Amino acid sequence: MTFIARKAEVRVAFTFLFMKEMYLEDSYLWAFDATVEDVFGELVILDKTAFYPQSGGQPADAGFLLRGDEQFRVVGVEPGERGIKHILDRAGLLPGDRISGTIDSDRRYRFMRSHTACHILSAVIFQETGAKITGNQIEQSRSRVDFSLDSFDKAKMSEYVEKANGIVDERHAVTTKILPRAEALALPDLVRLAKDVPDREMIRIVEIEGVDRQACGGTHVKNTAEIGKIIMIKAENKGKANRRVYFSLED
Ligand SMILES: [Zn+2]
Repeated sequence: MTFIARKAEVRVAFTFLFMKEMYLEDSYLWAFDATVEDVFGELVILDKTAFYPQSGGQPADAGFLLRGDEQFRVVGVEPGERGIKHILDRAGLLPGDRISGTIDSDRRYRFMRSHTACHILSAVIFQETGAKITGNQIEQSRSRVDFSLDSFDKAKMSEYVEKANGIVDERHAVTTKILPRAEALALPDLVRLAKDVPDREMIRIVEIEGVDRQACGGTHVKNTAEIGKIIMIKAENKGKANRRVYFSLED
C-alpha cells in the first residue's frame, strides 16, 4: 500500500470518529438527533453523540434523550470501547429508536470556559516556571491545575493568574485540528507534553493562537474572551514538589 493510500485510509477513520463524537467538531452543538445502537438496561450507545464523556479532568455532560415526548434523563456519560456510554435514569430505549439529545448547555458552557482557562493558566505557569503540568480537574464551581515544581513562591501565583487574565482579554482565537500522530509529535511546542499525548493514531491539537498548543480531546470556547475573568481561590503545596492552584470564573 502506498503512503498516500494509507493516509487516505487514516483520514476516513478520523472522519468516522468525528461523525460519532460530535463534540470534537463542534463544542457548541447542544442538541442533536441520533439512533440507538445498543442497549444494556439503563446504558445506551448511540450511532453518534454530542454528549461529552467524563475524561481528561472534564466532567460528563448532563441532559436528556427524547423518544417522541418520552424523556430519559442522562445521569452519566463514560467513554467505552464500543462507543460512548450514556447512563440513563431508567431503562426503556430500544436498538433502532430515533432519539433527540439535549445537553444542559449552561453546565457545558461553564466547563468549556473553565477548560480553556486551564490551558491558559498551564501555559503561563510553564512559561514562568518551567513546571510540568501534572493534571487538572474542572468542576461546576471551581477548577484546579496541578503542577510539579521543587520550590514555589505561592505569592507568585496571583501574578500568573493576572498574566492569564491578560491573555483572556487579548481575545485569542481557539482552534482545533486532528493530525496523524507523527505530525502532531513533530510540533515543537508539543515536545514537553509528549509523554501525555494519548496513544492514538490521530491526535487532536487544541491551539490558543499565539499562546499555546496542547493535545486534548475536551471542549473549549472559540475565543478566550468568552472565559470572562479567572479568579484565584488559593494555591497549595501538596507534598514535596506537587503544587495546586484553585480558581473560579467570574460570570
Ligand atoms: Zn483541553
